[in-house]
Order: sequence, then structure tokens, then C-alpha cells
Amino acid sequence: MKKVLEPELVDLRSKLKFSFETGEIWLGENRMMLMHVAAMGAFRNEIIQSLGLERARGLLVRLGYASGVRDAELAKDLPSNDSPEAGIMLGPMLHSFKGMVRVEKRKLEMDIPNGKFAGEFIWENSWEAQTHLQQFGIGQDAECWTQVGYASGYVSTCVGRPVIFKETKCVCKGDHHCYIEARLLEHWEDSEDYLKYYQPENIAGRLIDLQEEVVSLRASLNKKALPDNIIGESESFKSALDLASTAAAKPITVLLLGETGVGKEVFAHWIHDNSDRTAQPFVALNCAAIPNDLLESELFGVEKGAFTGAQQSRPGRFERADGGTLFLDEVGDLTPAAQVKLLRVLESGELERLGDIKTRKVNVRLVAATNVNLQQAVKDGKFRADLYYRLNAYPVNIPPLRDRKADIPLLVEAFIKKYALLHNKRVVGVTDKAMRMLMSYDWPGNIRELENMMERGVLLTASDDSIELKHLFAGVAEIFSNEVELSAQGRVGSENKKSLDVLMDTMIRDGISLENCELMLMEAAVKRTGGNITKAAELLGVTRRQVAYRLGKEDQK
Ligand SMILES: [Zn+2]
Repeated sequence: MKKVLEPELVDLRSKLKFSFETGEIWLGENRMMLMHVAAMGAFRNEIIQSLGLERARGLLVRLGYASGVRDAELAKDLPSNDSPEAGIMLGPMLHSFKGMVRVEKRKLEMDIPNGKFAGEFIWENSWEAQTHLQQFGIGQDAECWTQVGYASGYVSTCVGRPVIFKETKCVCKGDHHCYIEARLLEHWEDSEDYLKYYQPENIAGRLIDLQEEVVSLRASLNKKALPDNIIGESESFKSALDLASTAAAKPITVLLLGETGVGKEVFAHWIHDNSDRTAQPFVALNCAAIPNDLLESELFGVEKGAFTGAQQSRPGRFERADGGTLFLDEVGDLTPAAQVKLLRVLESGELERLGDIKTRKVNVRLVAATNVNLQQAVKDGKFRADLYYRLNAYPVNIPPLRDRKADIPLLVEAFIKKYALLHNKRVVGVTDKAMRMLMSYDWPGNIRELENMMERGVLLTASDDSIELKHLFAGVAEIFSNEVELSAQGRVGSENKKSLDVLMDTMIRDGISLENCELMLMEAAVKRTGGNITKAAELLGVTRRQVAYRLGKEDQK
């Protein structure tokens, strides 16, 4: 019973070909590769960390399953595959041959025509258990997922019916060895629980959903922490706000123009909040953040089976925004096909989901935004002229922060308030020096950059303290070093600063005391003024009396 079939007996070794010249390894018709268990273990660990246990488990089970299916196809051509049972037993052999695990049969009863299959096997030296134990230690569950997937894929393909393996013992939960049991799918009472790991899921769709959740959570956070988050008193800002305010009351499409980071989404939200749609949804989508091939399904929805990977029907952003406002950022990044469909929705309020023939009506107010020159994009043939005119009917230019610097103190105050609340900290404000720099900086990243910087400042400063220059401009200090030196030290430019540094180093190295240093400075000043102590004192910014005293010439006039 304990006998393990030797690979020689089934000619497996002759199926394995190392082709060094072509950089390939072949097992029968299948290209293989040697991988480090440690590297595979690190990859497995990363999947678990980033996707969570359940999702990772599904991916790994399916990885193993795909491999098992391939091996079952390979086994069909092996000469020793002369009975159904021998065919099944080639699977464990291949599994061992590939260095995954040592398999020992405990039980194998099969009568597929009469709906019977029962198998039990011991697993030893499982690579997956070994790597899992190294990363996570002993836990509550069996963890040899790719291997269970492999066994299920192999046997299901051999017998032509779904057979599910379960790992009932595993060294990952402290058992002496791993143990697997197989039955036909319908003979497991809890087959549903297991089946879910074999069905691929739409991870891309889920990630997009999560991203959307983050955006809407962030938006609601912004709203709560900062009720009036449109801030500014400067002329250019107020005229943009006036335009937006006029548009808000009307059901027209608005095109927000401006550099990246000027706050287009905040404007879009403000328009929504000040319209009669405020009780309806506000949905945002950054067209540049969605892969091109998913853009249409994101915007217009998709019916199950429309393309590979569309496992469920999903409404698009237009449907989700029905009755409310849809904010499309980076609208210049729309694909030509998406542009056609967008134009149609704008003109008729009608759309069809991908892979669907049913026409759906939506009532959506569109606010679009771009930081590229759409007119130029039209000239270059990248953007449809008819869509451009439709969008550009009501453009609102949001000025860059460098053109509204007068608003910086207001914005700084608002952001400090917001992030102090968020991070549960008391912050007094910013130092004068920090404010000077904030006012003189050019803000290529606009308000978003200012906001990020203020959040960093709030995090780095001590509680009950003011935010200092070093808390804000840590990474970009070099850009300002000249200006900072000039403003902080008056006449000392950066070149002088360097020679001053050398002088300081020399004095410290040579052990010149502060007292001597002062004396040398006074002597040099007196020498320069030709012995005029009053003028020397002026140069040094001290009184005549101090110089005279230090030089021992108190009595001189
Ligand atoms: Zn195990």
C-alpha cells in the first residue's frame, strides 16, 4: 500500500527535455520552468497581504487547478495510462516529479458511470505548507491551496466530472502531515463553500469599485471637515465662482478648465451642492485613471458575458448618477468610441450597456474637466469636434494658485483646521518665515500641492506649536536655498555662505574660542575703518563702548 510508483516506470523522465540552446524546458508538450520555492513563497505572501486571505486563496486554488488540467492532458498520452485508476495515479506522480509534494495513496475507489469516486492521500514535504509556515506560523486552517487546486483540476479532467479535493489535515495547523480527501462535487454537503474558490472573480471591477468608494468617502470627509471648502477672495477666483454659481442653477453641461490640482472636483461638487440635484447622487470618474478597455464599461455599464471577465452585470457611472451629477475628470482622455457614446447620452439621454440591446434613459447633469487644450486635441484629430462644442458651451476657467496668492493665508488656515481635526492635533498656525515661503513659492501642483504640504506640516509639527519652514519644504528646500539665505541673513548670499561655512569649520577645527573669535572680528573691523572705533562698532552692530572695552581701549575716544 505504501509503494510509490517510480517515475521510470511511466517514462516521465524521458518526457522532460532541457533545451539550453533555446532557453526552454519541456515536459511533453508543455513548457515548464524551474522556480525558487522561496520566490514563489514571497509572491504567495504578497498576494495574501494585498488581496486578503479569501481572495488570495481563490487565486492560488485556480493557479493549481490550471496546472492540474494541463497535467491530466499530458497524462493521457503516457503509455502507462492503461486503466482509469492508473490514469488517476499518474497525477500524484507528476505532482511529486515536479517537486511539489510527496503523495501516498490511502484509498482510491472509483466507478464514474455509477457516480462513485472516493480518494484519500497523504501529502508530505508540501512546498506550500513549508513556505506558509515560514511566513505565518502554525494556524487554524489547512493552507496547501495551489496543491488542492492541482489535485481537483487533475482528477476532474481525468474523470470528466467535477471532483473536489479537501485538505482535512495540514502541517500548517499542526498536523503531522497533510491529508486530502476527494469526492464528486455533488457528494460534498458544503460544496458551495468550496466551489467559490474555483470561479474566477472580477478583481479589476472590484478594485475600481473600491477606488470609487475611496473617492466618495474622501469627498464626504472633505465636506464634513470643511463645510465651506471653496475658499478664496481674490478677483480671479471670485469670477470663476460667479460663473459656476450661475451654471449651478441651470441644467447645463459645464466644462471646468484649469491646471492639475486647482480644485476642479471641489468646484464640480460645489456646483452639484448648489443645484436642485443636491439630494441626488454625485458620481465622479477620472477618465485617465481607468484603463482604456474598461472605460466604456465603467461609463455605460456592462451586461454579463459582454466580454471575457464580465461575470456580472454592472451599471455604469451614468446609471449610478441618474437624477444627479456626473463629474468626468480628464475628459480629454476618453477613447474615440467612448466619445461617440458620451455625445449620444448628452444629446438624447440614452445609453446601452456593453453587450446589451436594451436602451436605458438617464437624467444626468454632466460636469466635465480637463487640463489639456481640447481645441488643440480637436485639431490633432484626437477629440471629436461635435463633442467639444457640446462640452465647451459653458467653460469655467479656474485660476492656478500662483495667480491668486492672496488666497494662500485663507487656504492655509482652512487646511490646518481640517488636518488638525483629522489627526486630532492642536496646531497654532505657521511661522512667519514659513508663510513667506508659502507666499513666494510658485505652486506647480496648485491647491492640491498646498493641501498635501499642510497635511505634512500638521503631522510633523509638535502639538500646540506652529508649523515651521522645515516641516513644509523638507523635500524641496534646495530650490529655495538662495532665497532663504537672502531673506534670512540679509546681505549674505549663497556664495558668501559657502566661504563662511569653510571659515566656521576652520575656526572650530583650530579650537578658536568664541571670545577670541569676537576679538579677531573687532580687530579686523577697527583695521578696516582705519582705527575709527565708532565706525567699527557700526559695522558690527554693537556699541562703541563694547568695542572699546574688548580692545582694552576704553579710555580712547
Ligand atoms: Zn497542507
